[in-house]
Parts: sequence; C-alpha cells; structure tokens
Amino acid sequence: MSVFEQELSREISRRKSAKGAVASVVDEYYAKRAEASKNEEEMRSKLREIKEKSIADMDGLVKRAKASFERNGIKVIIAKDAGEALKAIGGAIGSDKQIVKSKSNTCKEIGLEALEREGREITETDTGDFVVKLVGEQGIHQVIPAMHLTPGQIAEAMGKKMKKKIPADPEKITHELAGYLREKIKGAEVGITGANVLTASGEIVLIENEGNISLVSRIPKKHIVVAGIEKIVPTLDDAMHVVRCATLWGTGRPWPVYLSVISGPSSTGDIENELVKGAQGAYDVTLVLIDNGRSRLQKESPEMLYCINCGACNNLCPAYRQVLGFFGARYPGPKGIVYAALEGQGKQNYLCNVCSNCEFSCPAGISLPEYIRKARGKLKMETDSEMIKKIREFGNPFGKVEKGKIPDKLYCC
Ligand code: SF4
Repeated sequence: MSVFEQELSREISRRKSAKGAVASVVDEYYAKRAEASKNEEEMRSKLREIKEKSIADMDGLVKRAKASFERNGIKVIIAKDAGEALKAIGGAIGSDKQIVKSKSNTCKEIGLEALEREGREITETDTGDFVVKLVGEQGIHQVIPAMHLTPGQIAEAMGKKMKKKIPADPEKITHELAGYLREKIKGAEVGITGANVLTASGEIVLIENEGNISLVSRIPKKHIVVAGIEKIVPTLDDAMHVVRCATLWGTGRPWPVYLSVISGPSSTGDIENELVKGAQGAYDVTLVLIDNGRSRLQKESPEMLYCINCGACNNLCPAYRQVLGFFGARYPGPKGIVYAALEGQGKQNYLCNVCSNCEFSCPAGISLPEYIRKARGKLKMETDSEMIKKIREFGNPFGKVEKGKIPDKLYCC
C-alpha cells in the first residue's frame, strides 16, 4: 500500500468512527430534548418575537445598553470591525501577560489568537475547544466542538503536551485537564469570555455546564467580554427566554448547569460603608461590542441575526453529518454555509441539498434554505453572463480553447 493509500484508509476509518460518535451524540440530544420540553412551539414563537423586535431596534438597544453598562461601572467599547475589536481588547489587556478565555464564537470570528504575541499567553479553558486546538483540528459544532475526536486521539495529544501518560478514558482525561486548566485560571491576570445574551438594562448573561466561564470571569482581576451587537435584547426577562431556548436547543436540557448574570465589577461596602471595587470577582470589567458587518446584515438579511448559536441546525443536516462540519464560513454547518454564500464563497453552498431540516430545527425559525436558494440564483446569473460573454467573444462558453489543455472553468447548463 502506498503512503497515500495508507493515509486515505486512516482518514476513512477516522471519519467512520467520527460519524458514529456524532450520530450517538445527536440521538442522545433528541431523547433529552423530548423529555425536557412539552411546549417547544410556544418557546419558538416567543423567541422569534423577541429577536424580531431586538434586531429591528438594534441601534437603539446598543445606545441604551452602553448607557446602562457605563452607569454600572463597566467600560464599553463599540468596535466597527475585527481590527478595532482586537485593538480594544489589546488595550484592555494592557501589559498583562497571563490570559485565560472561555469558548466564544465571536472571539473566533475576530481572530483573537492574533493577540498572542509580545509574550502574552492566551489559554482556552473550554474542554472541547482546548482539545480541538491541541489536536490541531477545527471545532465541528458550535456547542460540542470536539465531538468527532476519540478519547484515544485526545489522550495521545494531551500526553505529549503534559509529558505524561494519559489513559484514553473520558473521565480521567476530563479530570486531568480540569486540574491543568484550574492552575492556569488561578495564575491569570485577565479573563476573556463571550456572552450568550446582553440586555439594554445592563446585564451580561452567561450560560455554561463546565464551570470554567464563572471562574474565568471572576478569578482574574480583569474581565473582558466580547460580544456581537445582535446579542442585546431589551430586558432580563427576554434574556432568560433566550437562555432557556439556547440551552434546550443546544444541549437538550431545560436549564444550563450554571447561569451567571453580571451587571458590574465586584465590589463591597462592608468596611465603613465605603464602596470598594474588587472583592472576590473581577474589579475591572470591559465590554467590547462588535459590529463587524452586523449593521449591514440587519438591512440585507436581518433573520441571520436572530441566531442564538445553539447549533441545532447541524443536528438533522444530512450534509453536516457526512462532511462533519468541515465546511462553511465563520461557523460549521448550515449557518456556516449561509455565511459562506453571503460572503461570496460560491462553491460551498452546493454542499447543501436544500432539504430544509435546518429551518425545521431552528428555534428562531430562520429560513436558512431560502438564503441558499437566493445565493445560487445570484451565482447562476453571474455564471450565465460570463458564459454569454465568452460565447460572444470566442464562440464557446469556455473562453480561449488551446489544444491539449483543459479550460480553467467548465460550465454545465
Ligand atoms: S441558525 Fe437557528 S438552529 Fe442554527 S445555531 Fe442559529 S439559532 Fe441555532
């Protein structure tokens, strides 16, 4: 067997076992979800209502949220794009070097790792994201990024990093990793998190099952929150509904294991009634609100901003389950295919078979397939006009034909 054949056969068996793992995770998810909720339709329509209202008034909510957070002692920076966001985060980090972070799709979107220079160390504390980075792969799911990796693969990569033998056992791997990450969090000066939802009344809401987000946001002296402006809803009641939906559609459970509501830096007035910042939690809190194309999306494709990142659209997607999330722009899965289409990456959207399972699965009822259809229509128009132009110029749709050479583009009508 050639080296190529050996590698191919290894890759095929890896994908087979990964697909099996994904199938069992998804089956378990549906069983839990059915048990956890009897009123999904009601929850969906309320979520849709909250998101429609919030996205229609996105600018107004940003202004109100900024004023509320600042009143509560949280610094707010509004970043137009990824570059501005990185500059703002870098400024908030200052000369501190030890940084821990929790899983955040927004941090991925802006390429936070660009700040890992000048001696800074940014440690990921989410088990799945840490493991994916360690193995040198990319996350395949918004909520369970490492679900395609086997315990054997993870134990091997961790063994190399920690220079000791790690048994290929999920419990032992998790405990080993938790100990390692706890030490990193204890020594960190800055904690960076995302936010699941923000309110115009000045609350940052974070949900998690592992407990790392609470530690990252409380133990270091500085907490930097990085979130898209579409995450703001008017009230804490609205936010709690988003939390319920994100948890149910994301994990199949009714509530997350941990729920944090942060409305200001840690403080106490216990000594002589003088308010002092910094008791046990972070005493310096900065919120970086990111636009990065969201204002444009609000006008062109507002529904895409209704997304609460639960990842449910992946679960019934036949393409996702075959390609295992290694497609799409910004996010894996159907939502990523739509972003790829919106960002002009034409080929990606032909991975979708427009079955509409994603729309059916989405708690916000986003018509993802409709975006794909529109993108294909646009692509077809561009291709048609290119072919017509070439037929006029060269008498054929391929352009200049040279004997023995395959044209760069082959079209099919
Ligand atoms: S598009 Fe819908 S199902 Fe997919 S991640 Fe967003 S909210 Fe969840």
